[in-house]
Amino acid sequence: MAAIGANSQLNPLENAERQFEEAASRLKLDPGVKETLKRPRRATIQSLPVMMDDGSIRVFTGYRVQHSIARGPAKGGIRFHQDVTLEEVEALASWMTWKCAVADIPFGGGKGGIKVDPRQLSLSELERLTRRYAADLSDLFGPESDVPAPDVNTGEREMAWFVDTYSMHERRTELAVVTGKPLEVGGSAGRREATGRGVMISVAEVCRRLGMDLKGARVAVQGFGNVGGVSADLLASECGAKIVAISDVTGAYADPNGIDVKAALQHASSRKGLTGFAGAKPMSGSILEVDCDILVPAALENQITSDNAAQVKARVIAEGANGPTTPDADKILEAKGIYVIPDILANSGGVTVSYFEWVQNRMGFYWPEREVNGRLHEKMTKAVSDVWDMAQSEKVSLRVAAYMVAINRVLRVHQLRGMYA
Ligand code: GLU
Repeated sequence: MAAIGANSQLNPLENAERQFEEAASRLKLDPGVKETLKRPRRATIQSLPVMMDDGSIRVFTGYRVQHSIARGPAKGGIRFHQDVTLEEVEALASWMTWKCAVADIPFGGGKGGIKVDPRQLSLSELERLTRRYAADLSDLFGPESDVPAPDVNTGEREMAWFVDTYSMHERRTELAVVTGKPLEVGGSAGRREATGRGVMISVAEVCRRLGMDLKGARVAVQGFGNVGGVSADLLASECGAKIVAISDVTGAYADPNGIDVKAALQHASSRKGLTGFAGAKPMSGSILEVDCDILVPAALENQITSDNAAQVKARVIAEGANGPTTPDADKILEAKGIYVIPDILANSGGVTVSYFEWVQNRMGFYWPEREVNGRLHEKMTKAVSDVWDMAQSEKVSLRVAAYMVAINRVLRVHQLRGMYA
């Protein structure tokens, strides 16, 4: 993302705002209301001094943006990445608002980030950085105000440190302050797989409506982490799809006869990546342009742009990542008749089960995995159906429809609550 300044097509905040504007203009929002819904409620920049293992001090930059708390506490993950910027976090926070509204869970939207390449830190440095961030913003966070979760390069381990730090400051254990925790620390059954499971459900629901059989359908998945890896696994094992290409930051692999996903998952977890995977052929071209029926971009933003959108061969794209398609690329894909299941719908399974985790923490009563998965299925199928119906009735893309459904829901709450002062 180094070239963002030179290429505004790659600025995630501009892209998020363009997506919002297109839906908002169809809804004919009052200009003041539109501005209120568009802008973040609050953005925080932190300097985070951390003692490194060699005794030196390094100061990292952290962010937390609360885009909206209209429908409930701000909700959204924390990412650790060397390219994190305030604008990116703002964009991601706004996507969370619309995602929680599409999923119809009682949360607003937020996102956090630390500009760091976590692979360059030791485990104890990473822990001190995570704790510093959690402690420094502990006034902001809380089960009723702002509830973080994992995102790119963070997971259960970081969430456990987060709970511990926050709880020490509060002088009592507060599990509901973050989601995506280890099971032993108040996590929910099914949370780890939830985003990938949601991708699978959204693909199945859309393909059913298109009359596309998933059995034997060829799928390419970009990104083989918590989202891409699980999506590939479930699409293969539960829907009978054929995974013809997979990739991560370490390499891309293809096999037109189908890849053994379980073997790839095992390889990736023991080798910290797909590098050297012998179960398929290393690919030279872009995975996004592979000949397939379904493409799942599950890595980072700005992967499908106006430069490569024309070469995409899939009929359906399910956005496992947040913001993988630029608005210019969207137009090209739409003209080609490709159905894009937008991020705020396709990957909403993660935050939906985060909501279930938060509910279970507050009840102190935990559900078996089949109950979590059943409730997730119910939520996701309803969300797809609401978005599909909006797309049909308004004759718009699934992305515009998802935004329209979401904006309407947030708008209604604004109208009912009224304006304070
Ligand atoms: N980081 C995930 C997302 O982008 C999950 C957020 C959450 O569970 O709060 O949706």
